Amino acid sequence: MPQAAGAEEETNVRVAARVRPLLARDTAQNYCSCITAQPGTNQLVVGTRRGFTFDLVFDTDASQSSVYVGCVSQLLEGSMQGYNATVLAYGQTGSGKTHTMGTGQPVPEGSDEEGIVPKVIRNSFHHIEKHKGSVDFKVSCCYLEIYNEDIRDLLQPGGHKGHIAIREDATGGIKVTGIHAETCSSAEEMFRCLSDGSVQRTTGATLMNEQSSRSHSIFTLILEQRRRLTNGGGEGSEEDYVTAKFHLVDLAGSERAKRTGAVGSRFKESVAINSGLLALGNVISALGDPAKRGSHVPYRESKLTRLLQDSLGGNSRTVMIACVSCADIDFEETLNTLKYAHRAR
Ligand code: ADP
Ligand code: MG
Repeated sequence: MPQAAGAEEETNVRVAARVRPLLARDTAQNYCSCITAQPGTNQLVVGTRRGFTFDLVFDTDASQSSVYVGCVSQLLEGSMQGYNATVLAYGQTGSGKTHTMGTGQPVPEGSDEEGIVPKVIRNSFHHIEKHKGSVDFKVSCCYLEIYNEDIRDLLQPGGHKGHIAIREDATGGIKVTGIHAETCSSAEEMFRCLSDGSVQRTTGATLMNEQSSRSHSIFTLILEQRRRLTNGGGEGSEEDYVTAKFHLVDLAGSERAKRTGAVGSRFKESVAINSGLLALGNVISALGDPAKRGSHVPYRESKLTRLLQDSLGGNSRTVMIACVSCADIDFEETLNTLKYAHRAR
C-alpha cells in the first residue's frame, strides 16, 4: 500500500468548470451566451459582473481530450500506484455532464468526442498491456445508481436479489456488499459493462430521462496489481499487492425543485437528491479547505458521500467538474452551479 502523503501541503481536491456551447435548440430560440472565460486566468464571468475562479476552466471550444489531460490523466496515474480517485460531473440537466463523462451514445475509438470514462477504460488497459511482463493485473468494474437514497445495481438486470449495503472495514476502506463486480480481461469487455449498465439506467426509468436526471450514477474501476519483485539471485519472488478504486460519477441534475414545478412525491425526490448534492458539497468543501483539516468531514449525511468516503480526501485524488450551459436562459442555474462549485473549492 502507498505511504501517506505526509505533510504535503497541496490539496488532493480540485474543482474545474466546463462551459458547453449554445446548442441548435438554443440558437433556434435566439438564446445568447452569457458567460465569458477570461483567457489565461481560470476565471469565468457570468453576465457582466459575477466572476468565479476555479482550478481549471474549460471554455466552449475545449475538446474532450483537453478535459481528460487537464484533470483526469494524473488521477489514473495515481490509481496505478494505489491511490483511489473520484471524478464527479456536477450541473443542471442539459449542462453536459453525460457528454463530459462520455457515457451517453458510444463514439468511435479515438474520436475527439470520446469522453472521460471510455478514455479511462482504454488507458487502463494500455497501461496493463505495457506492464504485464512484471505485474499481474486484475481489473473489475461495478456500475451503480443512487436514486432517492436507494442503491440500484446496473450490472444486475432486473434488479438485485440481495440487500445492498455500504460497510466500512477496520482500516476505513468502504465496501459495498450485495453488488456485482465484473472482472474484465479487455477494454472491450469493460465497454460492454458500461453500455449494458447505461441502457439499464435509462430503460429502467418509468419516465425515461426523468429518473436518470434525478439519480447519481457511479461507474467504478477496481484495479488490483501484484508486482513480482524478484529477490536478487534467488528463485523466490516477493509479491507487492496494490489496489485502487477509480469512481466516475455522473451526478443528478442540480436544478432546483421550483424550476421543474415539482409537487408531491416528485418534490420529495428532488429534496432527497438535493440532500445528496448538499452532503457532497459539504464534504468537498471540508476537504478542500486547509483550515478545516482534521475537523469532522460529514460523510455520513448521504449514501453518495458514504459510498465515496474512502475515495474522497486523504490520499485519494478528487476532481469535480462543474458543467454549465452558456445560454442566457440558464443564467440562474449556471450561477447556482458556479456558486456551489466555488464553495466546494
Ligand atoms: P446532462 O448530462 O448534464 O443532462 P448532456 O451531457 O446530455 O447533459 O448534454 C446536453 C446536450 O448538450 C447534449 O446534446 C450534448 O451532446 C450537448 N453538449 C454538452 N456538452 C457539450 C460540449 N462541450 N460541446 C458540444 N455539445 C455538448
Ligand atoms: Mg445526463
